[in-house]
Amino acid sequence: MEYSYVVRGATAKCTQGTDPGVLNLPTCHGVYSRGKPVMNIADHVSGQNIGCFGFCKLTGDVCVPQTPFKWSDGKEDVLIDNEPALLSKSKLVCSASGIITIETDGQD
Ligand SMILES: [Zn+2]
Repeated sequence: MEYSYVVRGATAKCTQGTDPGVLNLPTCHGVYSRGKPVMNIADHVSGQNIGCFGFCKLTGDVCVPQTPFKWSDGKEDVLIDNEPALLSKSKLVCSASGIITIETDGQD
């Protein structure tokens, strides 16, 4: 299976959140796919790259994940600004034991 690069405007969802959210990239890394800036595994910062995923099914609060770790499963041999490129199979751990996955890669 081929995995695609994730660009600004991709959507992700949390297994414990009620709604998908958009991934943001305030500062481009200088690499583009079809005109859109490609993200890397270090683009995991809550409030900067990661927004809100609706309400958390576990706590009932707004799901604004705290995400201390980088995304997993980046493309190790394609570095974007010295970090592996973010791929559509990448995953991120959310604060309330949720797993955040890429829903759409943002390329269309
Ligand atoms: Zn969550």
